[in-house]
Amino acid sequence: MISLATTTCRICGSEAVRPHCTMPTLNPNNADPVGFLQCDECETIFDPAAGSFDYVDEAHDLDAVWPAFQYYFEVLAGVNILAKLVHLAQSIVPPKQDRSPRSFMDIGGGTGITCEIANRLGWKSVNFEPCPAGYFGERMLDIKVVHEYLGKGMLPEHSFDAIVASEVIEHVPEPDEFLSLIANYLSVDGVAILTTPNSAPALHKSIGETDLDETYCPGIHVNLFSARSLEQVLRRNGFADVRIITAEGTTGQKRLFALACRREGLLPLDARTLVDKDVIDKMCVDHLRWVLDTREQSDRRDSWYRGACFRLFEYYVNKGMFEEAEPYRELIDAHLLERGLTNDVVPLIQAANFFEFMRQVPAYLGKYCYFRGIYELNFRHDAANARAYFHTAHHICAIQESVTSCPGQFSLLARFHEGLALLSGGQQEEALDVFEELEKKSPQL
Ligand SMILES: [Zn+2]
Repeated sequence: MISLATTTCRICGSEAVRPHCTMPTLNPNNADPVGFLQCDECETIFDPAAGSFDYVDEAHDLDAVWPAFQYYFEVLAGVNILAKLVHLAQSIVPPKQDRSPRSFMDIGGGTGITCEIANRLGWKSVNFEPCPAGYFGERMLDIKVVHEYLGKGMLPEHSFDAIVASEVIEHVPEPDEFLSLIANYLSVDGVAILTTPNSAPALHKSIGETDLDETYCPGIHVNLFSARSLEQVLRRNGFADVRIITAEGTTGQKRLFALACRREGLLPLDARTLVDKDVIDKMCVDHLRWVLDTREQSDRRDSWYRGACFRLFEYYVNKGMFEEAEPYRELIDAHLLERGLTNDVVPLIQAANFFEFMRQVPAYLGKYCYFRGIYELNFRHDAANARAYFHTAHHICAIQESVTSCPGQFSLLARFHEGLALLSGGQQEEALDVFEELEKKSPQL
């Protein structure tokens, strides 16, 4: 029997629904392939079966998966995008007249770095996170975590000035219920900030987005909204004012950012004016420095401390501000030395799996060697040293890419820069060999 849900759009109710694509599922609890449908009326792509992925049950033995969270804090967490969420909240919600802290809720905030950033800026925050990530965040950060799904009657109504749900609504089978819950907890002058994959690049190949893996997530993502369908579902659940902006990916259209208020007048006509890249960068740098300072004061050198140190080095090298990168290079080098990871040891490292990799090196090592190569080449003008670092970066990143579920192109990029360093050192023939090898491996590079 075909149920109504498979023939009408879950968001707009239109019957202009047809098959979009079928993909193998990523949901370990249900082996059936996922048949995504698309609605030609509101351009939502949805999984009509809307499986039941249990986020609470994801992992029982927290210690066994701890290295995965070390990896997250040391290198993976995109602090910039988390700072952007707080920056948006700061820009929209005015400070309280009585100077009491504004209240911030993150729904499904993972480890809760967003809450840490908000707290530092004077907000009072809580992270609703039923996944194991919530426990790791609690171990690593000084934040309040509720290890449950957000439900009705858990907190006073209309008591939050900003509610963030980043990459959450695409997992929710009943988005109306979810959004009316958010509206119910949001203060009258508050803002809800949502991010979610944009269906447009998946529907319109002409957009040319090459980075669609995270968009589909078959068996785990239930609804891929369009700007129109996200606005529609927000407006009918208590949000009178809504702005949707697109960002990220190779086209700047991979993700939707929704800003939604219960009353009109808080959001500028063009919400893009709220996104100030320089302010967000500064917020990031300030936060990472704060992580370093507070941990140094309490003599705590954990993964978040190491990760903050690496991110600051990366940031300043990227900006060409090498003098500013110097203290972080010194800290990282001291740590590597402490772990016995000298320049003659690192190139010999091998690892057959992720845990073996994490036992031996900090997660940022490959990327650090890459940025260190840039530093040697452009700041120290030492082509031989730069070449050695790029060579090591290539080796470590190649291992990392083979043992993690999120492979990248860093190993090839490092090898390419090794070629540039060789050229810079006057070794044309060796450089040519490197470029020829790369052309065979990756012609697009
Ligand atoms: Zn629709």
